[in-house]
Amino acid sequence: MDSDVIIVGAGPAGLSVARALGEAGLAVTVTERQSERALAEPAYDGREIALTHHSKRVMTDLGLWQRLPADRISLIRHARVLNGASPYSLHFDHREAGTETLGFMVSNHRIRKAAFDAVRDCGSVTLMADTDVTRVRTDAGRGTVTLGDGRTLFAPLVVAADSRFSATRRMMGIPADMLDFGRTCIVCRMTHERSHQDTAFECFHDARTLAVLPLTHGEVSVVITLGAEEADGVLGMPEQAFNADIGRRLKDRLGSMALVGARHAYPLVAVHASRFHARRFALVGDAAVGTHPVTAHGFNLGLRGAGTLAQGLIAAHKAGHDLGAPAVLRRYTRRHRLHTLPLYHGTNAIVQLYTRTSPPARLVRAALLRLGNRIGPARRLIMSQLTETAPV
Ligand SMILES: Cc1cc2nc3c(=O)[nH]c(=O)nc-3n(C[C@H](O)[C@H](O)[C@H](O)COP(=O)(O)OP(=O)(O)OC[C@H]3O[C@@H](n4cnc5c(N)ncnc54)[C@H](O)[C@@H]3O)c2cc1C
Repeated sequence: MDSDVIIVGAGPAGLSVARALGEAGLAVTVTERQSERALAEPAYDGREIALTHHSKRVMTDLGLWQRLPADRISLIRHARVLNGASPYSLHFDHREAGTETLGFMVSNHRIRKAAFDAVRDCGSVTLMADTDVTRVRTDAGRGTVTLGDGRTLFAPLVVAADSRFSATRRMMGIPADMLDFGRTCIVCRMTHERSHQDTAFECFHDARTLAVLPLTHGEVSVVITLGAEEADGVLGMPEQAFNADIGRRLKDRLGSMALVGARHAYPLVAVHASRFHARRFALVGDAAVGTHPVTAHGFNLGLRGAGTLAQGLIAAHKAGHDLGAPAVLRRYTRRHRLHTLPLYHGTNAIVQLYTRTSPPARLVRAALLRLGNRIGPARRLIMSQLTETAPV
């Protein structure tokens, strides 16, 4: 065999698994279609990732957190959820959670760079950049990965971390529940006049949501979700009009605002694989579950899955067991689904509720906000989901 595990895709999830396995002494090969240069210096992609306390712990254990520039880690101490034009808001405060912060904000390109640097320092991981995986096959004895240039790799286990549109998931015949919301997410950074006071705003307007997330250096991350047919209009809106529009939708809470850099657009498609393994094959990251960003759980789930899979594989390796054994992979699917299924379906339900424009939906939204503020256990449940402060 060439290695103990082949990982397809050097995104943050694939690299996290590679680092965990590499640190434990497993021989890992990571294949990635992007160039090594693009991985070493990832371009800014507009995504600012909200990370939970659990994710911070996992990233620290993997040696990723320490590689992030400290002045580029932002804190979310408060969160306000607003419904339409109503001034009433559902409010979460870090003091209620008993923590210094509800969560953290880090740019996706910095996470990618930290993960790449951590893997590069890991002697037992081989990275094959600039290589597209064109075929994956597994049999009772091994997994075989064929690359675009005709080379073939062998290992007892193949792990797919090749995005929510995973081609290898399909090659291995794993069905996935795919929900195309017909909506687009536009993200950008903006400067603002008044302090954000480490507050995240989630404003639900009919058929459009606006999230404004606190960053360091006097900036916020702006996330607009809207019907795909409206996206071009917002992407092409003259800068001054765009600035004024966001300020108005935020009810001038941050004073005048100004766009920094480009606006980036992402189609909104949620995915949940029916299982996270096949014969000698496992899925992690968005290839396993890709959620709508409204609850900011995508990469948090990716990290959780990476940790769960790595733990099982390291235990099997130490015990001298087959890494691709069905029992090892079944346990991974079982454990990870306990976390993914409620979050995936819960997120989709929130999206449905907050994109409906019917009067009953509006009433339910308003009622939920008030109940959320008044019912202590509901607040604590939402907060613990948001922050993932409880040890695992
Ligand atoms: C606008 C937006 C905001 C978000 N906000 C949050 C947030 O606040 N919190 C949160 O937790 N998550 C958030 N997410 C989700 C998060 O960005 C993703 O969950 C995460 O980036 C997925 O990482 P990944 O490694 O699984 O996949 P990707 O980052 O998609 O990486 C997949 C890799 O596989 C490679 N690849 C694909 N096919 C092949 C092939 N055939 N051969 C070789 N290589 C291949 C690709 O080049 C790529 O490098 C957000 C997402 C979006 C779009």
